[in-house]
Amino acid sequence: MVVVTGAYLDIFSLAGKRAIVTGAGRGIGRAIAAGVAGAGANVALVSRGTAQLEETQALIAEAGGTSQVVAADLSSTEEVIRLADAAEAALGGPIDIVVHSAGTQHREAALTFPLDAWDRVIQVNLTAPFLLSQEIGRRQIAANRPGNHVFVASLTSILGLPNLVAYNAAKSGLMGVVRALSREWAAQGIRVNGISPGYVETAMTKDLFADPERRQKLLDRIPTGRFGTTEELAAPTVFLASDASAYMTGQLLIIDGGWAGA
Ligand code: NAP
Repeated sequence: MVVVTGAYLDIFSLAGKRAIVTGAGRGIGRAIAAGVAGAGANVALVSRGTAQLEETQALIAEAGGTSQVVAADLSSTEEVIRLADAAEAALGGPIDIVVHSAGTQHREAALTFPLDAWDRVIQVNLTAPFLLSQEIGRRQIAANRPGNHVFVASLTSILGLPNLVAYNAAKSGLMGVVRALSREWAAQGIRVNGISPGYVETAMTKDLFADPERRQKLLDRIPTGRFGTTEELAAPTVFLASDASAYMTGQLLIIDGGWAGA
């Protein structure tokens, strides 16, 4: 029999942790940043636009949390590397947790998909998260500190969806990164996992959802009969970033209203 003593939910606490959340200016990244801060971490909020990051910071402050604004353009490799220093400086110490939520997309048929769009989508969605985790992982291993890396993947990490070839490739590639890093770093106490959101109404999906016919077609495929909310991605991310998932690494949590399982 398991005897639970004290406040069991403390196992989900991120109190005293320093976290980076990319894409924290809006949408899923904003909700995740609020969740990670709500669980007690001091969070570096990252994206290109500082105005949206400041809005996220104000929301977190209103709820009693702490966060810092750190602008960076993840389409630049140099900025990704510099981000590790900037986030440590802003948070006042080494990083414990990194959540990669920044993402971009280009919708076009594979036959005409342009190379510049391919390069941009791969850089922001695959190369930048790998490079940032590589840089943070190097520092965690050099300092003999445990760490926690969470990648925001997608249903396209496991399913093919039309007109998204670069996004599909990047998000599938992210799962390769998750599996590889989890194997290489497990012995050092660094866990690496991903979440796979189903469809959520954000700036990224606004155009898709604006077309009533396409919207209904998507809804018809979701067993719960509705899209997800950004907040519904935050708690699973806190779970992965916390000791509540201490024996879990190299995995993808699918949060999609049942789409992939149907
Ligand atoms: P979103 O509302 O468009 O937010 C994207 C975020 O990424 C913004 O904060 C944006 O800020 C930032 N970003 C984009 N390009 C960047 C760059 N070059 N450098 C730094 N930051 C950059 O999208 P979302 O729907 O919340 O998506 C968040 C994540 O969830 C993405 O990885 C996406 O692929 C994934 N996802 C979304 C859905 C969905 O249905 N919405 C489903 C599955 C997975 P700036 O523009 O200010 O830089």
